[in-house]
Amino acid sequence: MTSVEVTDRVVGSSSAAPRTGGSEALLTINAGSSSIKFALFDADDLDRRLAGQIEGLGNAPSFRAHDLRSGRSEHNAWDASYGPRTHREALSWIIDWLEGHESGLQVAAVGHRVVHGGLHFTTPVLLDAHVVEQLAALNALAPLHQPHNLAGITAARDTFRDVPQVACLDTGFHRAQPFVNDTFALPRSLYDEGVRRYGFHGLSYEYIAGRLLDLYPLHAAGRVIVAHLGNGASMCAVRDGQSVASTMGFSALDGLPMGTRCGQVDPGVLLYLMQNKAMDAEAISNLLYRQSGLKGLSGGLSNDMRVLEASESREAGDAIDYFVFRIKREMGGLAAALEGLDAVVFTGGIGENSKLVRQRVLQGMEWLGIELDDARNRAGEVVISTDRSRVLALRLATDEEAMIARHTRRLALPVLAGQAADRAGS
Ligand code: AMP
Repeated sequence: MTSVEVTDRVVGSSSAAPRTGGSEALLTINAGSSSIKFALFDADDLDRRLAGQIEGLGNAPSFRAHDLRSGRSEHNAWDASYGPRTHREALSWIIDWLEGHESGLQVAAVGHRVVHGGLHFTTPVLLDAHVVEQLAALNALAPLHQPHNLAGITAARDTFRDVPQVACLDTGFHRAQPFVNDTFALPRSLYDEGVRRYGFHGLSYEYIAGRLLDLYPLHAAGRVIVAHLGNGASMCAVRDGQSVASTMGFSALDGLPMGTRCGQVDPGVLLYLMQNKAMDAEAISNLLYRQSGLKGLSGGLSNDMRVLEASESREAGDAIDYFVFRIKREMGGLAAALEGLDAVVFTGGIGENSKLVRQRVLQGMEWLGIELDDARNRAGEVVISTDRSRVLALRLATDEEAMIARHTRRLALPVLAGQAADRAGS
């Protein structure tokens, strides 16, 4: 493939007809550090048309997309020095591709995943220049995620002028947590200025809470632990659909070990690194975010659970052991926070796909009322506990994009109706 021409374009913003017709779409964008994931939904019924991503931005970018209606997939990789280099270029390439793929594409609204809403944004919010500014002011709280989310927003707002756009916050679901799970035992002034346990993966937890309500309403009204185990990993205690406690804290580093992130670590270790190894903030940040977790523990072998499971090395085994141990330990703590347990849900790439991790986490958890059904777990069924297990154990796919689409539709519809009324009146 060759490089991509980048132009400023206005897409779907100047139609004279009200944008509520059947061919209109909602676009969701999840801009990460080196990737942009996107999905296109029918604006009317939120049926997903397609999903895809550009990954490897800044290195060796590649594109893949899957059309859910035709079942066809597309995959392109660029030669080393070609391809989109920035989020803006990547988004522009995605729009070009979407327009080629979907004839007469009309994007009615755009929804964005934003990792941090700070203290102010507890629910999804319509984007305008002021909100973008407020979200940018939170960059320091999530330096490795928030600026990329905002790069995606800026690129989309430049491209889809006049199209309502919505920010969906990963922290929002947890904001009503009680003080004891919201704070650290640090001087009160730090809490007041926002040094708090925000918790993340909120869109995933919100989606799972909704799924549980559909599938098992009695359990959904009770005490549930959701384990979102992916490249990023955290766990959340949910009571009656509300977040009560979570393992991630101020940053997306705390709690469980992750692909390359450390999870819980004694702050004394950081002092040691600064005082005895002359490591500065950048070096420590690199260590904690990129060199630790499964990758660090496996001696640099991999951050991918599939690779670790297939490896016979002692370090790979140690990494899985630690991962499993921390999940079990947190499960005990979260059950205590809930004062009991009615259901456990595994989700995320590892939670959904690794029979081994689910089996090892639930082994020996009978004291908590969980009895694993090995055959169901191996078969990848939704219910993986036995019929006589007091606690229901489930394996559910998460869908953050669907959650973004729902929020976006809800907030964008009144704006679209207002725009249509203005056009009719003018
Ligand atoms: P996520 O961040 O939720 O997309 O999860 C990505 C992670 O899921 C990958 O890094 C893998 O470690 C893990 N994963 C995906 N498929 C499998 C599988 N079949 N077995 C074990 N782990 C898997």
